[in-house]
Amino acid sequence: MSMRSVLRDSVPTPVPTPAVTAAGGGSRRPAIGIDVEDLDIYYGDVQAVRGVTLAIPAQSVTAVIGPSGCGKSTFLRSLNRMHEVAPGARVDGTVRVDGRDLYAAGVDPVLVRREIGMVFQRPNPFPTMSIRDNVLAGVRLNGGRLKKDAAEAVVERSLRGANLWDEVKDRLNRPGAGLSGGQQQRLCIARAIAVEPQVLLMDEPCSALDPISTSAIEDLIGQLKSEYTIVIVTHNMQQAARVSDETAFFNLAGVGEPGQLVESGATTKIFSNPDNPSTEAYITGRFG
Ligand code: ADP
Repeated sequence: MSMRSVLRDSVPTPVPTPAVTAAGGGSRRPAIGIDVEDLDIYYGDVQAVRGVTLAIPAQSVTAVIGPSGCGKSTFLRSLNRMHEVAPGARVDGTVRVDGRDLYAAGVDPVLVRREIGMVFQRPNPFPTMSIRDNVLAGVRLNGGRLKKDAAEAVVERSLRGANLWDEVKDRLNRPGAGLSGGQQQRLCIARAIAVEPQVLLMDEPCSALDPISTSAIEDLIGQLKSEYTIVIVTHNMQQAARVSDETAFFNLAGVGEPGQLVESGATTKIFSNPDNPSTEAYITGRFG
């Protein structure tokens, strides 16, 4: 089911999953952008993020940067309705994907989460599940019933898409836990792209990885952006400068205050000539 149909219909309709369509040779839909307007994010009574308005362009990488605790992860999780899994968590404002509000009445958050993929800080493959079944886990969760050949096609396409195929093609039946950390993270990316989401959210995807694996993931992000809209939270300024087209700088308005978006724009501009002095101070390592 596509994001368009998730947002149009409040109940699942019996259309083939995108992965099934793709395995049958269909062409991908173009990636879509995200429009965030006046977004406030709360944990119970505590406001974590205030008043974010941001346009995230399609088929590009947007980096979210800022000091610890300024709400980067919280903001990222609000983009696929993962935030509200925390008790008492809620948002005010709108997040439009392809022009439709993710938070409109009748939109099923479970379907949104399946359509907007997420990759976490620590690689989290299902450890005892085989590499093949890890890739197919999301497709199966989405109710896609694949014949063996179609499933093999999804596995190969996704692992190739995650730059992992050559390393694992001879051991697809071995457990995901047998891979190195960097390979596990690419397996998680393969699992996320197997369902053909249009948006991929990445929360510090390299922070637990060595430099060589980090470089492999950064190369992969550069390749994936031609097909996906990618939002990445990172603490690493060099990484933000290397992989992103757009950068959004968040900061705390003050002690105990919510995080806010200070400025956003082309990464080249934010890193060379930011409008706000606090952006420059953060980027040059003077705080955070
Ligand atoms: P960042 O990713 O920029 O480090 P976070 O989004 O993790 O920031 O946190 C923003 C604020 O929200 C912090 O004050 C943090 O303590 C709070 N917070 C994060 N997760 C939760 C949670 N599950 N329950 C309550 N408060 C939380």
